[in-house]
Amino acid sequence: MMRVGILGGGQLAQLLALSAKPLGLQTLCLDLALDACARNQTEVIHAPLDDTHALTQLAERSDILTVETENIPLATLDFLSPLKPIYPSRLAIATAQDRLLEKQLCQELHIPTPRFCNVSHFDELKHALTIVGTPAIVKTRRFGYDGKGQVVIKHAHDATQAWAALNNDSLIVEQMVPFDYEVSMLAVQDRHGHQQFYPLVRNYHEAGILRYSIAPWNAPRLFEQAKTIVKKLLTHFSYVGVLAVEFFVVGQEVIVNEMAPRVHNSGHWSIEGTTASQFENHLRAITGQPLGSTAATTYNVMFNHIGEHPNLSKILHLPNIYYHDYGKKPRPGRKIGHVTFSVSDRTMLHPTLEKLQGFYPEYTVRPADVV
Ligand code: AMP
Repeated sequence: MMRVGILGGGQLAQLLALSAKPLGLQTLCLDLALDACARNQTEVIHAPLDDTHALTQLAERSDILTVETENIPLATLDFLSPLKPIYPSRLAIATAQDRLLEKQLCQELHIPTPRFCNVSHFDELKHALTIVGTPAIVKTRRFGYDGKGQVVIKHAHDATQAWAALNNDSLIVEQMVPFDYEVSMLAVQDRHGHQQFYPLVRNYHEAGILRYSIAPWNAPRLFEQAKTIVKKLLTHFSYVGVLAVEFFVVGQEVIVNEMAPRVHNSGHWSIEGTTASQFENHLRAITGQPLGSTAATTYNVMFNHIGEHPNLSKILHLPNIYYHDYGKKPRPGRKIGHVTFSVSDRTMLHPTLEKLQGFYPEYTVRPADVV
């Protein structure tokens, strides 16, 4: 039986491990945290991602290696790559773990992205604000997720405060894009360069964290633009596996916000909403199997459970609901599970969202968007 070694052991690794089972694949994760939630589904080696002894063990026991996070030390990838094939490519991971490289690549490939400046000291920050304008958003180049490591600068005189708050000399300043809404696209490329694209997903973030998604999001023009961009990236990276790209929508145009060289929260709906989910297709791609269909078979709303589960005894009575509990200890701001509502008719999305409004009081749910 083929075994896939996964760097990281969070919920994405857990969902990959679950999908691996019907495909006849085994999995093995590496994660320092003793309570890494992938252990609910698979074996986890508990060690830091740069522990060469643990990396050797992972490589020896696996046939193929992959990642559930872009935040893998490049030295780890270099240590592993002579031992076993690792997908996606080092180039993709190195680029996606650094917001500056991501933005520079977009420029190089003529992909629209917000105006940006690299900042490593306070004077550069002040200068950057004169270039990108205000409001602006300052982000750490690395290790930012779910809105962490980000500060909005409304006026140039807020720069001192932002600099102090981030306390980091590796920053990027971006123009604050007055976007209409946010979408993402997930796509997959196999080892022979065959590509498949999932439908566009509409994403609702609050405080930098994804709250809920609607998929497929019917916007053919935006879909075509996103597909052209994602295609370029897959090809540039010689990508193998699932790639996620997040966009801002301004009018009828998409602008790249960021990319993730892995399965992605905004693709969780695909478990119930497609023939081959993002997890299955990622595994098929990296293990050299043909890709499955990415077409949506239902209309879907995915809600993240952040910090705590809402009233499950009521929610679980709703029809067409698929519940996923990652088995993580609840903590404020932590993604501990999600639900997907899968309906067969687009007109059912609006009443579904209306019903859900009451169950997710902290979220700004907008049923009117899907009328
Ligand atoms: P990120 O971690 O970069 O995806 O940022 C998290 C969220 O912050 C995004 O999904 C947006 O809602 C918001 N955001 C980030 N960058 C910008 C930007 N340049 N302009 C406007 N909003 C942004």
